[in-house]
Amino acid sequence: MKEKIIMKTPLVEMDGDEMTRIIWKEIKDILLLPYIDLKTEYYDLGLENRNATDDKVTVESAIATKKYGVAVKCATITPNADRVKEYNLKEMWKSPNGTIRAILDGTVFRTPILVKGVTPFIPTWTKPITVARHAYGDIYKNTEMQVKDGDRCELLVTDKNGNETRKTIFDFVGTDGIIQGLHNKDNSIRSFAKSCFNYALEINQDVWFASKDTISKQYDHHFKDIFAEVFETEYKERFKKAGIEYFYTLIDDAVARVIRSNGGFIWALKNYDGDVMSDMIATAYGSLAMMTSVLVSPDGIYEFEAAHGTVQRHYYKHLKGEETSTNSVATIFAWSGALKKRGDLDNLPELSRFAENLEKATIKTIESGIMTGDLYALSTLPNKNKVNTEDFLRDINETLKTLI
Ligand code: NAP
Ligand code: MG
Repeated sequence: MKEKIIMKTPLVEMDGDEMTRIIWKEIKDILLLPYIDLKTEYYDLGLENRNATDDKVTVESAIATKKYGVAVKCATITPNADRVKEYNLKEMWKSPNGTIRAILDGTVFRTPILVKGVTPFIPTWTKPITVARHAYGDIYKNTEMQVKDGDRCELLVTDKNGNETRKTIFDFVGTDGIIQGLHNKDNSIRSFAKSCFNYALEINQDVWFASKDTISKQYDHHFKDIFAEVFETEYKERFKKAGIEYFYTLIDDAVARVIRSNGGFIWALKNYDGDVMSDMIATAYGSLAMMTSVLVSPDGIYEFEAAHGTVQRHYYKHLKGEETSTNSVATIFAWSGALKKRGDLDNLPELSRFAENLEKATIKTIESGIMTGDLYALSTLPNKNKVNTEDFLRDINETLKTLI
């Protein structure tokens, strides 16, 4: 047996809930600990511990991520009324992902993992499309009202000296109606642009950005202008050197081009567009369980995770002692992404190489016909076999042994 890989800097490890918490431990035991002298700073973001610590653990894990630069996160429960009862919570704690994103001021990039046998609904998408959603403002922080026949609706801005500027939205005559006020912030748009351009350099892919600037000449056009300014002043030269491009087009044109494309680029989207399009892209590539997610801050801090949730239904089967066949691929790729990043930052090529082999072994295993139930239902491979949660990881380990 080869010696274990020694790490220099710890990874921030954020444990989570339900079925993904079970998978988390199995991935470590079966695929990581035999090969790596794994150094992590462990934060238990399981709902019970978030409740016990008044959710301080989430904030602490984000601060540690700022310190060390790379984190790997397990899926976590975002409490709702049912969860408050189920876990006897002191409060309906906020989404950990929301808390972490706010502290790191990051952008989330979601990328599908492609395997032979699972063909995207758009068969020409031979490479992944990474969706980057601006996660601040617009309709998600809106103010809206229902108004009455005869109402005059205006935008009113009062500057710091008390001067007022007004613009009429609409005079309602002969009918009731609805109005909505939106905002966004230059610094948030700028952070979004930087995160996208940094990540593009990291993975060596083009960035596409789109909005409706022809119709929204102040609001959407401002996004376009900030992206252009950030690109021109900070990234143009580096993109040229890397042989990649920044491409802006109208949102409707972008949608048409995306459908006709082969993939292999980052698609940056405004908040609402990203919300809608990320679900479309995920579905079109085949399986939510094959979607990875990385939060990238404008100053280059990374938090890796799976895009799916805690797979609750499988967890309750598991608790009843029934066999499960839960797909661990996105969580494995969260670990490999974090280990690769740590290896690159710490100049530990053997750690980065191990992470790449882990990804290769995972894909090779599936392409040899061994897969979990969700992929079994989709795969067109003739020799496919459905295996349980743990056997899938053991089979990946057998493949991994042949690669290292
Ligand atoms: P989910 O856990 O993603 O599961 C939705 C369904 O998708 C599952 O029931 C399962 O379908 C399928 N699925 C998802 N991941 C799978 C995997 N790895 N392997 C096989 N099938 C998979 O979403 P949810 O049920 O809406 O949410 C459950 C909990 O997760 C919630 O408490 C939510 O707050 C949390 N959540 C967390 C995050 C995060 O931490 N980033 C993200 C989303 C949701 P079948 O049951 O039909 O097999
Ligand atoms: Mg959505």
